[in-house]
Amino acid sequence: MDFLRPARWEEALAAKAEHPTAVPIAGGTDVMVEINFGHRRPEYLMDLGRVTDLAEWEVGEDSVRLGASVPYTRIMENLSTELPGLALASHTVASPQIRHRGGVGGNLGTASPAGDAHPALLAAGAEVEVESVRGARRIPVDAFYTGVKRNALEPDELIRAVHVRKADGPQQFSKVGTRNAMVIAVCAFGLALHPGTRTVRTGIGSAAPTPVRAGAAEEFLNAVLEEGGFWDNGKIVTPSAVKRFADLCAAACHPIDDVRGTAAYRRHAVGVMARRTLTWTWESYRGARRATEGAA
Ligand SMILES: Cc1cc2nc3c(=O)[nH]c(=O)nc-3n(C[C@H](O)[C@H](O)[C@H](O)COP(=O)(O)OP(=O)(O)OC[C@H]3O[C@@H](n4cnc5c(N)ncnc54)[C@H](O)[C@@H]3O)c2cc1C
Repeated sequence: MDFLRPARWEEALAAKAEHPTAVPIAGGTDVMVEINFGHRRPEYLMDLGRVTDLAEWEVGEDSVRLGASVPYTRIMENLSTELPGLALASHTVASPQIRHRGGVGGNLGTASPAGDAHPALLAAGAEVEVESVRGARRIPVDAFYTGVKRNALEPDELIRAVHVRKADGPQQFSKVGTRNAMVIAVCAFGLALHPGTRTVRTGIGSAAPTPVRAGAAEEFLNAVLEEGGFWDNGKIVTPSAVKRFADLCAAACHPIDDVRGTAAYRRHAVGVMARRTLTWTWESYRGARRATEGAA
């Protein structure tokens, strides 16, 4: 196995063009497991550790440009205001050691349906910035996942960054596992309220071949909130609407039975998480509105 060590981004792109089968390694928390277990024996490993700008982030007016190798710990410590859903999801990844190494670029590279960043990225609204020597493009995260552990990257492309919309309302992330730490999700759910556009977005993990949004549930809730004037009057969303939203989220799943859980359990759990996260985020939204009105 040959080891490539580009010092700059352009060198990494050139190396990937020359060796399209080269496997990039960022934190290595997925790659090294696969190599150690003999599941993968790449001809070339390409260490991205010297491309230091991959571990940087920029906070813009509307979005955060998150370098592909920014570790989860940095997201939790520095971006919990701008990216609260992703910060909550980061908290649930593995252990402190893994969170110091692993990042969102690696989660996207692996594209496991159980990756914890995905529901948060889907709910917040994100685009993946990818590049090759042929040029750069931005892929909406919804279109990035193409199958079980498959993504939209071409063989010569690398992930440079992820652009995530800054939160303009409450966000939540919920994960079901057999214990509180070091656990792969049985299923997970992300929810983001976007009062600026008066929309709600969802993300479901580990309950379909790819991470997915619950489109029908979003449409239903968006209509309910708009027709009832809820964004303006801040009333409690009726229990029947919350239940219907939860049922539609459960219906968006296409889960399987496996060692971590049954398909029926996953569908049920997604419904429960949808109901809870909607209740939590809507309460936060109402609280923030009351605080603003009180201050006025
Ligand atoms: C003990 C343990 C527990 C874990 N628990 C969790 C968990 O709770 N939740 C969870 O979501 N994950 C978990 N993981 C998996 C892993 O930590 C995450 O998927 C992490 O986000 C991977 O990031 P990384 O930087 O280490 O990726 P790497 O292992 O370096 O790479 C992962 C994949 O992405 C590709 N890649 C990396 N960077 C790029 C790039 N810039 N461009 C193109 N491709 C790239 C690699 O080639 C590889 O295919 C766990 C892993 C371990 C070992």
